[in-house]
Amino acid sequence: MTISSVDESAFRLEEIMAKLRTTVNKDRCISSGDCVDTAPTVFAFGDDGKSEVINQEGAPRETILAAARACPVKAITVVDEETGEQLYPPRTK
Ligand code: SF4
Repeated sequence: MTISSVDESAFRLEEIMAKLRTTVNKDRCISSGDCVDTAPTVFAFGDDGKSEVINQEGAPRETILAAARACPVKAITVVDEETGEQLYPPRTK
C-alpha cells in the first residue's frame, strides 16, 4: 500500500464517518425497535421503553440513515453537523 492510497483510505473513512447529529423524538416513537435492530450500536431503548441515541458515532453514516428510514413514524432526525443540512427526513418545501 502506498502512502497516497493510505491517505485516500483515510479520506474515505472520514467521509463515511462524517459527523451526524441524530435525535429521536420520543413523543413520536412507538417502540417498534426498527432503529435498534438496524443500528444497535447507535440506538437503544431507554428506561421509558422509547428509543434513544447511545452513540452519535456508533455506526457509519449510511447505517444511521438506514435506521432513520426504517422508522415507521419518522421519529428520527439526522443532520449533517458540518453543513447543518437535514439529511432525514427530507425537508418538504
Ligand atoms: S424505529 Fe422509530 S418508532 Fe421504532 S423504536 Fe426507533 S425511533 Fe421508535
